Amino acid sequence: MATDFTGLVAVVTGGASGIGAAIARRLRADGARVAVFDLAPQPAGADLAVRVDVSEDATVVAGVQRVVDELGRIDILINNAGIGAQGDVTANPDAEWHRVLDVNVVGMARVTRAALPHLRRSPSAAIVNTASIAATAGLPERALYSASKGAVLALTRAMAADHLAEGIRVNAVSPGTADTPWVGRLLEAAPDPAGERAALEARQPHGRLVSAEEVADAVAYLASPAAGSTTGTAIEVDGGMSGLRLRPRE
Ligand code: NAD
Repeated sequence: MATDFTGLVAVVTGGASGIGAAIARRLRADGARVAVFDLAPQPAGADLAVRVDVSEDATVVAGVQRVVDELGRIDILINNAGIGAQGDVTANPDAEWHRVLDVNVVGMARVTRAALPHLRRSPSAAIVNTASIAATAGLPERALYSASKGAVLALTRAMAADHLAEGIRVNAVSPGTADTPWVGRLLEAAPDPAGERAALEARQPHGRLVSAEEVADAVAYLASPAAGSTTGTAIEVDGGMSGLRLRPRE
């Protein structure tokens, strides 16, 4: 579907890699000027690349100010930066729970509250948060990560309610296992990377990993003025994992 972001400015957190980089490419290809916020920003692939740690409020506030100083406005915010956590509910100490929730959930609140005054001035303001299949399906050994992504879905709906009257739409995208450097790192750390990849592919009903570009397509729709009646919802880009109950393959 064609989306047009001509004249609009987008901020993509975690935009230097994987899904965020694909979102930045897609929004730029469709006419947006894009600022990437990342721990390790890559100037290629963005109109502005800023070192922002979404868990450090001072860097977030300074990053938003730089976008407004250099690109003049903010119309679209893609809250995509996130980190993983493995293990059951006993696996991580309190400090790790706080760290992951601080990046994956509070990070979205920090960037949003800094960007809100600018979003309120936009004629077509939109926020898209990256959740996960882990928000709605019980996956083994992902207790902390799943809790963080469940919170992202709840936060998305609450923000959509709060900011509807201000003309700001808020939605989420829920990817299944996606072929990004993140999953590449997980596979490299596995005792049998090829076997682990085959198991992850088999878990997806469509039999393969999701591509970052497929997630970016859904984000572009949700962020675009074309989705003017869509708010408070999530699009699953998960090969059918959240909704289908298939018979085993022959
Ligand atoms: P990735 O590791 O390839 O990219 C994540 C980016 O976020 C990196 O560039 C990293 O530097 C940045 N980042 C991490 N912590 C940050 C912080 N504190 N401040 C600023 N930037 C930070 O990962 P990805 O697979 O592209 O994942 C992106 C998002 O998609 C995450 O929110 C993740 O939870 C979600 N997601 C991924 C998958 C998957 O299978 N890859 C599935 C569902 C959801």
